[in-house]
Formats: sequence, C-alpha cells, structure tokens
Amino acid sequence: MGDKKALLYEGKAKQIYETGDPETVIVFFKDDATAFNAQKKGRVEQKGKMNNAITALVYEYLGKKGIETHFIEKLNNREQRVRKVSIVPLEVIVRNYAAGSMAKRLGVEEGVPCPETIFEICYKKDELGDPLINDHHAIFLGVASHEDLEMMYTLASRINDALKELFDRIDIILVDFKIELGKTTRNQIILADEISPDTCRLWDKKTLKKLDKDRFRRDLGEVTEAYVEIYERLKKVLEK
Ligand code: UDP
Repeated sequence: MGDKKALLYEGKAKQIYETGDPETVIVFFKDDATAFNAQKKGRVEQKGKMNNAITALVYEYLGKKGIETHFIEKLNNREQRVRKVSIVPLEVIVRNYAAGSMAKRLGVEEGVPCPETIFEICYKKDELGDPLINDHHAIFLGVASHEDLEMMYTLASRINDALKELFDRIDIILVDFKIELGKTTRNQIILADEISPDTCRLWDKKTLKKLDKDRFRRDLGEVTEAYVEIYERLKKVLEK
C-alpha cells in the first residue's frame, strides 16, 4: 500500500515522504510561496490544495496523450503518490511569449510572441540562484549527457504542444512554463515535479489578466482567486 513514513526532503512549496514502497513517494503540497530565489516569502491560502488538484488533472491529461510522468494517484486534498525518480538538476523553461526574466534580459516587452518556441535550461543550485546555462555547461557539469538533453528538449516540446491545446480550450494563453525531469531506475527520463500556476505563466485570453504566481511575485492581489480560477476551468473540461 505504501503509507506516509519519514520526511525525505522539504522544498519551498512541497514535502516529499517515504512510503513502505521503495519505488514510490508521497508529495505534500504546502501553502508556502517564495519568489526571487526565496528572498520574498509568504503564504497563499489554498495554494497547496489547488496545485495538488491542478497537477493531478494536468498529469492525467498528459498521461492520456502518451507522455510519461511520475504521477500515480491523488490521495487527498494535499497529497499525491508519485514514482520515485532521481531529479535531473536542470530546469527546462519553455516560452511561447516573452515574459519574466527573458523579457528583462533581452529588453523586450512582456507578451511579444516567440515565432519559434524558446527553450532554456537552468542549473538547479539554490546557492547560485539557479543560473541560466547552455548545453555545453550541462555537459561540463556532468548533469546530463547529449542524449539526455535531446530527450529533455523533445519531451518539453511535446508537453508544450499538449499544454497549449489544453489551455486554449479554457481560454488561457500559455505564456511560458518550467518543467523538471526525473530519471527512473531504468534510466528513462520522465516528467516529474508539478505543473501549476506556480510553474506556468497563464493569462486570460480575453482580458490578459495574469492567473498565476506573478500575482504573488508582483503583489497584484487576488492570488488565491487566480489559482482557484485555473482549477475551476480545468475541472470543467477534464473531470469526468
Ligand atoms: N519558473 C519556475 N521556477 C523557477 C523559475 C521559473 O517555475 O525557479 C517558471 C515561471 O513561473 C515561469 C517560467 O518558469 O512560468 C519562466 O520563468 P522566468 O525565467 O521568466 O523567471 P522569473 O521571471 O520567474 O524569475
């Protein structure tokens, strides 16, 4: 069965617990929110519940589209059971429109469409503030092989296609998002971590209202409401 046992790891927004089964772990979603490399800290009421529910719906949808994820089942409001993987210390960022750090770095306005999808990788290292790197750096650091990187970009592109289609159905523009990949014991690279308004920029198609973590980062107010709105819209099209 695999019940929750010792705490294995505590991150900024989630805790990971061991279970009786060495192949699976339980993820607990907290209401804690951080931004700007944890310099800004806060709480967003209901965020844990919403991100758990949203990630479960999105991962079930991606699973049906043939994308392998670590997700097994949602256990309750705050917890899900997932496959235990070793997390590749790279974040893959996918961009359909300029925003956030890329808009700033390149001096372009937020909302400018990318004629071709832009992929970035960041080295997951808190002390360094998760710096943007390129494939050569990843090889140098020994965190991924050329084959791994190719698999990661291919997977990220397939996930982007599936997510764009899904969010379009609920009148949301998928501006950009971040994914994390995990390696299984058989060296297969699969989607891990979460996909939620914490990890995506989601704008309402008609009003361009931000319905994601930028409401927290930029003190825009109605943060909980934004997460609830995304959940409600997804539920309408995805829940049986
Ligand atoms: N992102 C994330 N975790 C990170 C960094 C970025 O989930 O540690 C997501 C972020 O929510 C956005 C996308 O990745 O959807 C691109 O973020 P960006 O590089 O623009 O960074 P930010 O503006 O958040 O600093």
